[in-house]
Amino acid sequence: MMEGGADWIHLDVMDGQFVPPITFGADLAASLVKLGPTPMEAHLMTLTPDRHFEAFVAAGCKRITFHLEATAHAHRLAQSLRRSGVQAGVAVNPATPASALASVVSDVDLVLVMTVNPGWGGQEMIASCVDKVREVRAMAPHVTIQVDGGVDPTTIRRLYEAGATDFVAGSFVVKSGTIADNLRALRDACA
Ligand code: ZN
Repeated sequence: MMEGGADWIHLDVMDGQFVPPITFGADLAASLVKLGPTPMEAHLMTLTPDRHFEAFVAAGCKRITFHLEATAHAHRLAQSLRRSGVQAGVAVNPATPASALASVVSDVDLVLVMTVNPGWGGQEMIASCVDKVREVRAMAPHVTIQVDGGVDPTTIRRLYEAGATDFVAGSFVVKSGTIADNLRALRDACA
């Protein structure tokens, strides 16, 4: 992925609680950071995300995203990430409305709009999430809006036109062909 031209490497961290599967933790992130210069970010699909901030910062992640649904104290979590010297991201599941972000959006670097329910790769994008991207963009003209789930050359253009600026693609990028060609196809679809 680094050689193929990815801008970031996005690590999906799942704890078996916030979402049913378990993936990996900060030790693996630390090993991956050593592989090359491409920045890494951790998307924490975990309960009590702030318990793990320090470990992922120490692992070398440059951006850490927690779920709005996993905390009652989004501002405090965002502030503690920024104080640690990393970018702060807040993620929302498909069932969480854009309005839930209103009070926190000016205190984060990135909003992650989940375009599938988190937990498994290879799902189809939920179409109503395109409208949510548009609502978040209207609310925060300058925030980075990331989308995660079902991103491929047929869906990326609608998300881009709605205001998304940052695209997480897993299955499409690795399932066939070369990673470099697939990343190029995603960029071309927005051109
Ligand atoms: Zn993710």
